Amino acid sequence: MASKPEAIIRDEIRALAAYHVPDSSGMVKLDAMENPYRLPADVRGRIAELVANAQINRYPDAAAGALKARLRDALGMPEDAELILGNGSDELIQMLMMATARANAKALSVDPTFVMFRLIASYCRMDYVSVPLQADFSLDTERMLIALEKHRPALVFLAYPNNPTGNLFDAESIERIIRAAPGLVVVDEAYHAFAGRTFMTRLAEFDNLLVMRTLSKSGLAGLRLGLLAGAREWLHHIDKVRLPYNVGVLTQLVAEEALQHRSLLDQQAAVIRAERTRLDAALSAMPGTNVYPSDANFILFRTAAAPRVFDALKQRGVLVKNLHGSHPALDGCLRVTVGTPDENDRFLAALGESLA
Ligand code: PMP
Repeated sequence: MASKPEAIIRDEIRALAAYHVPDSSGMVKLDAMENPYRLPADVRGRIAELVANAQINRYPDAAAGALKARLRDALGMPEDAELILGNGSDELIQMLMMATARANAKALSVDPTFVMFRLIASYCRMDYVSVPLQADFSLDTERMLIALEKHRPALVFLAYPNNPTGNLFDAESIERIIRAAPGLVVVDEAYHAFAGRTFMTRLAEFDNLLVMRTLSKSGLAGLRLGLLAGAREWLHHIDKVRLPYNVGVLTQLVAEEALQHRSLLDQQAAVIRAERTRLDAALSAMPGTNVYPSDANFILFRTAAAPRVFDALKQRGVLVKNLHGSHPALDGCLRVTVGTPDENDRFLAALGESLA
């Protein structure tokens, strides 16, 4: 008789809840930090042409040479930094952990932060340690330094800005952490387009720093393309755990074309930043809300009876992220992605009714 899953599937994997993606059909979708804008019709036409002529009978360029060259240019990467591409930055986190997960190796981050750091550590059998953020979600630098000393992590992840809190950590504190870390520090700049602050230009200052970015928040979430930048000394080892051809022909072609229109992507990010300011002011003016400052394309806010407000928003056709119950520091918290002006108006109107 065949064995049962209990005998075969690792306990910690069976104990996991599958990553839940709620049905959003017909909703104003403000739950996943997507860019609400599509590319203009002429660019989409050009993409259709590229896709029609793509050689999908062939494996992709394994080194993604043309795309990497364009990315280097677009992202202001230092000339001597190396680059690895991933099927989203999620895959890069996985590669980093697979390459470093020796017996008893640890990954360290803060709490609350991007949930995939913890989850992927569990997939890779890496110990995961997290240091609580302060009440205002700033870094507790002293506790971080103590944790570095105590746990000697192979990897430190810092999301800059942080998800789900939206804030940028203090750059000097990050610098102290990089200098004190016994292993690699990965600064995850997924929301860079909305923050304007970066460690990318400072790679040469630290020999244990890697910087991660994604195109997901800049209008290309459907493509799945993330990148990791840093010294060749580190990246040529990380690259060995990358599955061959992890970035497909169509992703390479479409990303290359989209990056030719960088000014369009930048303009979209500027509109989103302006809407973030407007949304922040309107949210702050609502009775009983506590709004956290954001340098990302989403806003975290606290309100009484968050689960009820979340359901009331949903009934009115607006989907946000309910973080209540996910972590004690996030009790009463909802996270809303900045949408188009019209979507934001619909969210604000629905929220006004839901709070009433
Ligand atoms: N890092 C952070 C901080 C994120 O919030 C996200 C997406 N929610 C990612 C990485 C992953 O992005 P992707 O896999 O789409 O590149």
